[in-house]
Amino acid sequence: MVLDTPSLRFAVGVVALTLCLLFFGSFRRTRSAYSGWWCLALVFFLAGNVALLLTGTSQQAWADPAGNALLVAGAFSVWAGSRSLRLLPVPRWQLLAAPAVTAVASLLENPASNAWSGALVYLALMALGMGLATRELWLLNPGESQVRRSLALAAGVLAGYYFLRWPVFLIEGPDGPAFRTYLSPAVTSVLTIVLLVTVSFSMTALSNEQLINGLNERATRDGLTGLLNRTAFLELAAKEVTRLHTTGSVSTVILADLDHFKALNDGHGHAAGDAAIRAFAAACQASVRNTDLVGRYGGEEFIILLPGANPESARIIAALISRRLAATEPPAGIPFPTVSYGIAPSTTRGPDLDRMIAAADDALYQAKALGRNRVVCADPGPEPTVARQQQSTAPYGKP
Ligand code: GH3
Ligand code: MG
Ligand code: MG
Repeated sequence: MVLDTPSLRFAVGVVALTLCLLFFGSFRRTRSAYSGWWCLALVFFLAGNVALLLTGTSQQAWADPAGNALLVAGAFSVWAGSRSLRLLPVPRWQLLAAPAVTAVASLLENPASNAWSGALVYLALMALGMGLATRELWLLNPGESQVRRSLALAAGVLAGYYFLRWPVFLIEGPDGPAFRTYLSPAVTSVLTIVLLVTVSFSMTALSNEQLINGLNERATRDGLTGLLNRTAFLELAAKEVTRLHTTGSVSTVILADLDHFKALNDGHGHAAGDAAIRAFAAACQASVRNTDLVGRYGGEEFIILLPGANPESARIIAALISRRLAATEPPAGIPFPTVSYGIAPSTTRGPDLDRMIAAADDALYQAKALGRNRVVCADPGPEPTVARQQQSTAPYGKP
Protein backbone atom coordinates (compact mmCIF):
# COMPACT_ATOMS: atom_id res chain seq x y z
CA MET A 1 0.00 0.00 0.00
CA VAL A 2 1.42 3.36 -1.01
CA LEU A 3 0.04 6.37 0.80
CA ASP A 4 0.65 9.51 -1.19
CA THR A 5 1.74 12.59 0.72
CA PRO A 6 -0.73 15.15 -0.71
CA SER A 7 -3.75 12.97 0.18
CA LEU A 8 -2.43 12.45 3.69
CA ARG A 9 -1.67 16.15 4.11
CA PHE A 10 -5.24 16.82 3.00
CA ALA A 11 -6.48 14.32 5.61
CA VAL A 12 -4.40 16.02 8.33
CA GLY A 13 -5.95 19.33 7.29
CA VAL A 14 -9.50 17.93 7.46
CA VAL A 15 -8.90 16.34 10.88
CA ALA A 16 -7.30 19.54 12.20
CA LEU A 17 -10.19 21.65 10.87
CA THR A 18 -12.82 19.36 12.42
CA LEU A 19 -11.05 19.29 15.78
CA CYS A 20 -10.50 23.02 15.65
CA LEU A 21 -14.23 23.68 15.12
CA LEU A 22 -15.11 21.32 17.96
CA PHE A 23 -12.52 22.88 20.24
CA PHE A 24 -13.54 26.40 19.43
CA GLY A 25 -16.95 25.59 20.93
CA SER A 26 -15.26 24.33 24.11
CA PHE A 27 -12.99 27.39 24.21
CA ARG A 28 -15.98 29.76 23.92
CA ARG A 29 -17.68 27.93 26.77
CA THR A 30 -14.74 27.57 29.16
CA ARG A 31 -12.45 30.44 28.06
CA SER A 32 -9.61 28.35 29.42
CA ALA A 33 -6.18 29.41 28.18
CA TYR A 34 -5.08 25.90 27.20
CA SER A 35 -8.09 25.22 24.95
CA GLY A 36 -7.43 28.60 23.30
CA TRP A 37 -3.80 27.62 22.67
CA TRP A 38 -4.82 24.18 21.40
CA CYS A 39 -7.30 25.80 18.98
CA LEU A 40 -4.53 28.07 17.74
CA ALA A 41 -2.16 25.10 17.37
CA LEU A 42 -4.79 23.27 15.30
CA VAL A 43 -5.22 26.34 13.06
CA PHE A 44 -1.44 26.43 12.54
CA PHE A 45 -1.30 22.69 11.75
CA LEU A 46 -4.21 23.10 9.34
CA ALA A 47 -2.73 26.15 7.60
CA GLY A 48 0.76 24.58 7.48
CA ASN A 49 -0.54 21.43 5.81
CA VAL A 50 -2.60 23.42 3.31
CA ALA A 51 0.49 25.49 2.42
CA LEU A 52 2.61 22.34 2.00
CA LEU A 53 0.00 20.92 -0.39
CA LEU A 54 1.36 23.50 -2.82
CA THR A 55 4.79 21.80 -2.84
CA GLY A 56 5.65 20.94 -6.45
CA THR A 57 3.50 23.75 -7.86
CA SER A 58 4.55 27.20 -9.00
CA GLN A 59 3.65 28.48 -5.51
CA GLN A 60 6.29 26.36 -3.77
CA ALA A 61 8.71 29.31 -3.37
CA TRP A 62 6.54 30.94 -0.70
CA ALA A 63 4.34 27.98 0.30
CA ASP A 64 7.17 25.79 1.65
CA PRO A 65 8.76 28.41 3.92
CA ALA A 66 5.28 29.46 5.10
CA GLY A 67 4.18 25.83 5.64
CA ASN A 68 7.29 24.97 7.65
CA ALA A 69 6.96 28.13 9.74
CA LEU A 70 3.25 27.47 10.42
CA LEU A 71 3.87 23.89 11.58
CA VAL A 72 6.63 25.08 13.93
CA ALA A 73 4.23 27.79 15.20
CA GLY A 74 1.77 24.95 15.89
CA ALA A 75 4.36 23.01 17.91
CA PHE A 76 5.24 26.10 19.95
CA SER A 77 1.54 26.84 20.53
CA VAL A 78 1.24 23.35 22.06
CA TRP A 79 4.18 24.33 24.28
CA ALA A 80 2.44 27.61 25.21
CA GLY A 81 -0.77 25.71 26.02
CA SER A 82 1.16 23.27 28.20
CA ARG A 83 2.71 26.19 30.07
CA SER A 84 -0.70 27.75 30.58
CA LEU A 85 -1.78 24.54 32.33
CA ARG A 86 0.97 25.25 34.86
CA LEU A 87 -0.15 28.91 34.98
CA LEU A 88 3.21 30.00 33.57
CA PRO A 89 3.47 32.94 31.18
CA VAL A 90 4.78 32.61 27.61
CA PRO A 91 7.03 35.41 26.34
CA ARG A 92 5.72 36.42 22.92
CA TRP A 93 9.14 36.72 21.32
CA GLN A 94 9.81 33.05 22.13
CA LEU A 95 6.67 32.08 20.25
CA LEU A 96 7.52 34.19 17.23
CA ALA A 97 11.24 33.44 17.15
CA ALA A 98 11.03 29.76 16.20
CA PRO A 99 8.63 30.18 13.20
CA ALA A 100 10.61 33.23 12.04
CA VAL A 101 13.91 31.32 12.14
CA THR A 102 12.27 28.41 10.27
CA ALA A 103 10.94 30.68 7.52
CA VAL A 104 14.29 32.42 7.08
CA ALA A 105 16.19 29.10 6.97
CA SER A 106 13.78 27.86 4.31
CA LEU A 107 13.99 31.06 2.26
CA LEU A 108 17.79 30.87 2.29
CA GLU A 109 17.83 27.40 0.70
CA ASN A 110 16.21 28.18 -2.62
CA PRO A 111 12.62 27.12 -1.86
CA ALA A 112 11.44 27.59 -5.46
CA SER A 113 13.36 24.52 -6.62
CA ASN A 114 14.25 22.76 -3.35
CA ALA A 115 11.26 20.93 -1.84
CA TRP A 116 13.28 20.33 1.38
CA SER A 117 14.50 23.88 1.90
CA GLY A 118 15.28 24.62 5.55
CA ALA A 119 14.41 21.03 6.52
CA LEU A 120 17.13 20.63 9.16
CA VAL A 121 16.08 23.78 11.01
CA TYR A 122 12.40 22.87 10.64
CA LEU A 123 12.92 19.33 11.99
CA ALA A 124 15.07 20.57 14.88
CA LEU A 125 12.56 23.25 15.92
CA MET A 126 9.58 20.87 15.65
CA ALA A 127 11.46 18.50 17.97
CA LEU A 128 12.32 21.38 20.31
CA GLY A 129 8.75 22.75 20.46
CA MET A 130 7.19 19.36 21.14
CA GLY A 131 10.02 18.44 23.53
CA LEU A 132 9.41 21.60 25.58
CA ALA A 133 5.67 20.85 25.58
CA THR A 134 6.38 17.31 26.83
CA ARG A 135 8.50 18.70 29.67
CA GLU A 136 5.79 21.16 30.77
CA LEU A 137 3.11 18.46 30.69
CA TRP A 138 5.28 16.06 32.62
CA LEU A 139 5.96 18.67 35.31
CA LEU A 140 2.24 19.33 35.72
CA ASN A 141 1.23 18.63 39.30
CA PRO A 142 -0.43 15.17 39.28
CA GLY A 143 -3.05 16.51 41.68
CA GLU A 144 -4.12 19.03 39.04
CA SER A 145 -4.86 16.52 36.36
CA GLN A 146 -5.24 12.79 35.82
CA VAL A 147 -4.75 13.01 32.05
CA ARG A 148 -1.37 14.73 32.07
CA ARG A 149 0.41 11.42 31.44
CA SER A 150 -1.44 10.70 28.18
CA LEU A 151 -0.92 14.29 27.05
CA ALA A 152 2.78 14.18 27.91
CA LEU A 153 3.12 10.80 26.19
CA ALA A 154 1.45 12.03 22.97
CA ALA A 155 3.64 15.15 22.86
CA GLY A 156 6.69 13.04 23.76
CA VAL A 157 6.08 10.56 20.92
CA LEU A 158 5.91 13.40 18.39
CA ALA A 159 8.99 15.09 19.87
CA GLY A 160 10.91 11.78 19.76
CA TYR A 161 9.83 11.20 16.17
CA TYR A 162 11.18 14.58 15.06
CA PHE A 163 14.36 14.07 17.09
CA LEU A 164 14.83 10.86 15.10
CA ARG A 165 14.05 12.44 11.74
CA TRP A 166 16.73 15.10 12.14
CA PRO A 167 19.90 12.89 12.23
CA VAL A 168 18.52 10.45 9.65
CA PHE A 169 17.76 13.33 7.30
CA LEU A 170 21.24 14.75 7.95
CA ILE A 171 22.96 11.41 7.24
CA GLU A 172 21.06 10.03 4.28
CA GLY A 173 18.88 12.94 3.04
CA PRO A 174 15.18 12.77 2.06
CA ASP A 175 15.72 9.98 -0.49
CA GLY A 176 17.61 7.61 1.84
CA PRO A 177 15.96 4.20 2.48
CA ALA A 178 15.31 4.67 6.24
CA PHE A 179 13.96 8.18 5.82
CA ARG A 180 11.68 7.24 2.92
CA THR A 181 10.37 4.12 4.67
CA TYR A 182 9.92 5.24 8.28
CA LEU A 183 10.26 9.00 8.48
CA SER A 184 8.73 10.38 5.28
CA PRO A 185 6.11 13.14 5.20
CA ALA A 186 3.46 10.45 4.58
CA VAL A 187 4.38 8.59 7.81
CA THR A 188 4.55 11.93 9.61
CA SER A 189 1.03 12.76 8.45
CA VAL A 190 -0.39 9.45 9.73
CA LEU A 191 1.35 9.94 13.08
CA THR A 192 0.13 13.53 13.25
CA ILE A 193 -3.49 12.45 12.71
CA VAL A 194 -3.24 9.87 15.51
CA LEU A 195 -1.65 12.34 17.89
CA LEU A 196 -4.01 15.22 17.06
CA VAL A 197 -6.93 12.99 17.95
CA THR A 198 -5.21 11.67 21.11
CA VAL A 199 -4.32 15.13 22.36
CA SER A 200 -7.78 16.50 21.55
CA PHE A 201 -9.41 13.62 23.40
CA SER A 202 -7.13 14.19 26.40
CA MET A 203 -7.79 17.93 26.28
CA THR A 204 -11.52 17.27 26.41
CA ALA A 205 -11.00 14.99 29.40
CA LEU A 206 -8.93 17.75 31.00
CA SER A 207 -11.65 20.28 30.36
CA ASN A 208 -14.24 18.00 31.96
CA GLU A 209 -11.92 17.38 34.88
CA GLN A 210 -11.55 21.11 35.49
CA LEU A 211 -15.31 21.59 35.17
CA ILE A 212 -15.91 18.87 37.76
CA ASN A 213 -13.25 20.34 40.08
CA GLY A 214 -14.91 23.75 39.75
CA LEU A 215 -18.35 22.29 40.51
CA ASN A 216 -16.95 20.37 43.50
CA GLU A 217 -15.35 23.54 44.77
CA ARG A 218 -18.64 25.41 44.47
CA ALA A 219 -20.56 22.58 46.10
CA THR A 220 -18.28 22.42 49.13
CA ARG A 221 -17.38 26.10 49.70
CA ASP A 222 -19.36 28.92 51.18
CA GLY A 223 -19.65 31.73 48.63
CA LEU A 224 -19.20 34.65 51.03
CA THR A 225 -16.20 33.44 53.02
CA GLY A 226 -14.59 30.66 50.98
CA LEU A 227 -14.77 28.42 54.08
CA LEU A 228 -16.22 24.92 53.92
CA ASN A 229 -19.99 25.00 53.85
CA ARG A 230 -21.98 23.20 56.53
CA THR A 231 -22.52 19.97 54.56
CA ALA A 232 -18.89 19.67 53.47
CA PHE A 233 -17.61 20.47 56.96
CA LEU A 234 -19.83 17.86 58.62
CA GLU A 235 -18.81 15.22 56.10
CA LEU A 236 -15.07 15.87 56.42
CA ALA A 237 -15.18 16.39 60.19
CA ALA A 238 -17.09 13.11 60.78
CA LYS A 239 -14.42 11.20 58.83
CA GLU A 240 -11.62 12.98 60.68
CA VAL A 241 -13.13 12.37 64.14
CA THR A 242 -13.53 8.68 63.31
CA ARG A 243 -9.96 8.47 62.00
CA LEU A 244 -8.59 10.18 65.10
CA HIS A 245 -10.58 7.91 67.37
CA THR A 246 -9.12 4.78 65.76
CA THR A 247 -5.60 6.16 66.29
CA GLY A 248 -6.38 7.04 69.93
CA SER A 249 -6.13 10.81 69.35
CA VAL A 250 -8.44 13.50 70.65
CA SER A 251 -10.09 16.36 68.79
CA THR A 252 -12.01 19.44 69.84
CA VAL A 253 -14.85 21.35 68.24
CA ILE A 254 -15.31 25.11 68.55
CA LEU A 255 -18.66 26.73 67.73
CA ALA A 256 -18.41 30.50 67.32
CA ASP A 257 -21.22 33.02 67.05
CA LEU A 258 -20.84 36.75 66.41
CA ASP A 259 -22.42 38.83 69.18
CA HIS A 260 -25.41 41.10 68.55
CA PHE A 261 -24.92 40.64 64.86
CA LYS A 262 -28.49 41.54 64.04
CA ALA A 263 -27.93 44.98 65.57
CA LEU A 264 -24.92 45.48 63.27
CA ASN A 265 -27.02 44.53 60.26
CA ASP A 266 -29.94 46.68 61.34
CA GLY A 267 -27.80 49.68 62.26
CA HIS A 268 -25.26 49.69 59.42
CA GLY A 269 -26.72 47.52 56.67
CA HIS A 270 -26.07 44.05 55.33
CA ALA A 271 -22.81 45.06 53.64
CA ALA A 272 -21.30 45.90 57.05
CA GLY A 273 -22.56 42.54 58.35
CA ASP A 274 -21.02 40.73 55.39
CA ALA A 275 -17.70 42.49 55.96
CA ALA A 276 -17.71 41.32 59.59
CA ILE A 277 -18.46 37.73 58.52
CA ARG A 278 -15.59 37.80 56.00
CA ALA A 279 -13.19 39.35 58.52
CA PHE A 280 -14.06 36.70 61.11
CA ALA A 281 -13.55 33.92 58.54
CA ALA A 282 -10.14 35.39 57.64
CA ALA A 283 -9.20 35.61 61.33
CA CYS A 284 -10.14 31.93 61.76
CA GLN A 285 -8.11 30.80 58.77
CA ALA A 286 -5.09 32.81 59.88
CA SER A 287 -5.23 31.26 63.35
CA VAL A 288 -5.50 27.55 62.57
CA ARG A 289 -3.22 25.03 60.92
CA ASN A 290 -4.01 23.69 57.49
CA THR A 291 -4.89 20.33 59.01
CA ASP A 292 -7.73 21.97 61.01
CA LEU A 293 -11.19 22.28 59.45
CA VAL A 294 -13.08 25.57 59.42
CA GLY A 295 -16.66 25.87 58.20
CA ARG A 296 -19.50 28.35 58.06
CA TYR A 297 -22.17 26.59 60.09
CA GLY A 298 -24.93 29.04 59.22
CA GLY A 299 -25.53 32.84 59.11
CA GLU A 300 -23.02 34.28 61.61
CA GLU A 301 -22.11 30.94 63.17
CA PHE A 302 -18.86 29.14 62.48
CA ILE A 303 -17.47 25.75 63.36
CA ILE A 304 -13.89 24.57 63.73
CA LEU A 305 -12.51 21.07 64.22
CA LEU A 306 -9.06 20.92 65.76
CA PRO A 307 -7.62 17.42 65.31
CA GLY A 308 -5.31 16.43 68.14
CA ALA A 309 -6.26 19.48 70.24
CA ASN A 310 -7.43 19.44 73.87
CA PRO A 311 -9.90 22.04 75.18
CA GLU A 312 -7.10 24.20 76.57
CA SER A 313 -5.47 24.52 73.12
CA ALA A 314 -8.90 25.26 71.64
CA ARG A 315 -9.45 28.01 74.22
CA ILE A 316 -6.12 29.59 73.25
CA ILE A 317 -7.07 29.46 69.57
CA ALA A 318 -10.49 31.01 70.21
CA ALA A 319 -8.82 33.87 72.09
CA LEU A 320 -6.32 34.25 69.25
CA ILE A 321 -9.12 34.49 66.67
CA SER A 322 -10.90 37.19 68.69
CA ARG A 323 -7.66 39.16 69.07
CA ARG A 324 -7.06 38.93 65.35
CA LEU A 325 -10.58 40.11 64.56
CA ALA A 326 -10.21 43.03 66.98
CA ALA A 327 -6.90 43.95 65.32
CA THR A 328 -8.47 43.97 61.83
CA GLU A 329 -9.23 47.40 60.44
CA PRO A 330 -13.02 47.54 59.87
CA PRO A 331 -14.15 49.07 56.57
CA ALA A 332 -15.88 52.43 56.92
CA GLY A 333 -14.88 52.49 60.60
CA ILE A 334 -17.83 50.33 61.73
CA PRO A 335 -16.44 48.20 64.59
CA PHE A 336 -16.61 44.43 64.22
CA PRO A 337 -18.72 42.58 66.78
CA THR A 338 -17.26 40.53 69.61
CA VAL A 339 -17.57 36.73 69.46
CA SER A 340 -18.81 34.02 71.83
CA TYR A 341 -17.38 30.50 71.69
CA GLY A 342 -18.51 27.07 72.86
CA ILE A 343 -15.90 24.33 73.04
CA ALA A 344 -16.40 20.57 73.28
CA PRO A 345 -13.74 17.84 73.17
CA SER A 346 -14.09 14.30 71.90
CA THR A 347 -14.42 11.51 74.44
CA THR A 348 -12.95 8.05 74.60
CA ARG A 349 -16.45 6.57 74.37
CA GLY A 350 -16.51 6.69 70.60
CA PRO A 351 -16.38 8.98 67.58
CA ASP A 352 -19.52 11.09 67.80
CA LEU A 353 -19.35 14.41 66.04
CA ASP A 354 -23.06 15.13 66.61
CA ARG A 355 -22.61 14.82 70.36
CA MET A 356 -19.54 17.09 70.29
CA ILE A 357 -21.44 19.73 68.32
CA ALA A 358 -24.46 19.52 70.64
CA ALA A 359 -22.16 19.94 73.67
CA ALA A 360 -20.36 22.88 72.01
CA ASP A 361 -23.76 24.44 71.24
CA ASP A 362 -24.78 24.18 74.92
CA ALA A 363 -21.49 25.78 75.93
CA LEU A 364 -22.04 28.56 73.38
CA TYR A 365 -25.51 29.16 74.82
CA GLN A 366 -23.92 29.53 78.26
CA ALA A 367 -21.32 31.97 76.88
CA LYS A 368 -24.17 34.10 75.54
CA ALA A 369 -26.07 33.87 78.81
CA LEU A 370 -22.98 34.86 80.82
CA GLY A 371 -22.69 38.13 78.88
CA ARG A 372 -21.11 37.15 75.50
CA ASN A 373 -17.55 37.86 74.27
CA ARG A 374 -16.15 34.82 76.06
CA VAL A 375 -15.18 31.18 75.70
CA VAL A 376 -17.03 28.41 77.57
CA CYS A 377 -15.88 24.83 77.56
CA ALA A 378 -18.57 22.14 77.70
CA ASP A 379 -16.71 19.53 79.60
CA PRO A 380 -13.00 19.10 80.18
CA GLY A 381 -13.47 15.43 79.35
CA PRO A 382 -10.86 12.75 79.97
CA GLU A 383 -7.21 13.60 79.62
CA PRO A 384 -6.25 13.52 75.95
CA THR A 385 -4.16 10.58 74.93
CA VAL A 386 -2.18 12.60 72.44
CA ALA A 387 -1.48 16.22 73.27
CA ARG A 388 -1.86 18.69 70.42
CA GLN A 389 1.66 19.95 70.96
CA GLN A 390 3.05 16.49 70.34
CA GLN A 391 1.19 16.15 67.05
CA SER A 392 1.74 19.66 65.83
CA THR A 393 4.28 20.26 63.12
CA ALA A 394 3.56 23.95 62.74
CA PRO A 395 2.81 26.28 65.65
CA TYR A 396 -0.27 28.48 65.59
CA GLY A 397 0.44 31.98 64.33
CA LYS A 398 0.38 35.07 66.48
CA PRO A 399 -1.82 38.07 65.70
P1 GH3 B 1 -26.57 36.89 69.60
O1 GH3 B 1 -25.55 37.77 70.20
O2 GH3 B 1 -27.48 36.31 70.60
O3 GH3 B 1 -25.97 35.86 68.72
O4 GH3 B 1 -27.50 37.82 68.70
P2 GH3 B 1 -27.42 38.01 67.15
O5 GH3 B 1 -28.06 39.30 66.80
O6 GH3 B 1 -26.02 37.86 66.69
O7 GH3 B 1 -28.21 36.75 66.60
P3 GH3 B 1 -29.51 36.63 65.78
O8 GH3 B 1 -29.70 35.15 65.55
O9 GH3 B 1 -30.65 37.37 66.43
O10 GH3 B 1 -29.23 37.33 64.41
C1 GH3 B 1 -28.39 36.79 63.45
C2 GH3 B 1 -28.52 37.65 62.21
O11 GH3 B 1 -27.56 37.28 61.21
C3 GH3 B 1 -29.87 37.51 61.55
C4 GH3 B 1 -29.57 37.36 60.07
O12 GH3 B 1 -30.30 38.30 59.30
C5 GH3 B 1 -28.10 37.69 59.97
N1 GH3 B 1 -27.42 37.00 58.89
C6 GH3 B 1 -27.41 35.67 58.61
N2 GH3 B 1 -26.63 35.41 57.54
C7 GH3 B 1 -26.13 36.61 57.12
C8 GH3 B 1 -25.27 37.00 56.05
O13 GH3 B 1 -24.76 36.19 55.25
N3 GH3 B 1 -24.96 38.32 55.94
C9 GH3 B 1 -25.47 39.25 56.80
N4 GH3 B 1 -25.13 40.52 56.63
N5 GH3 B 1 -26.30 38.90 57.80
C10 GH3 B 1 -26.63 37.61 57.97
MG1 MG C 1 -25.05 35.95 66.90
MG1 MG D 1 -26.51 32.90 65.66
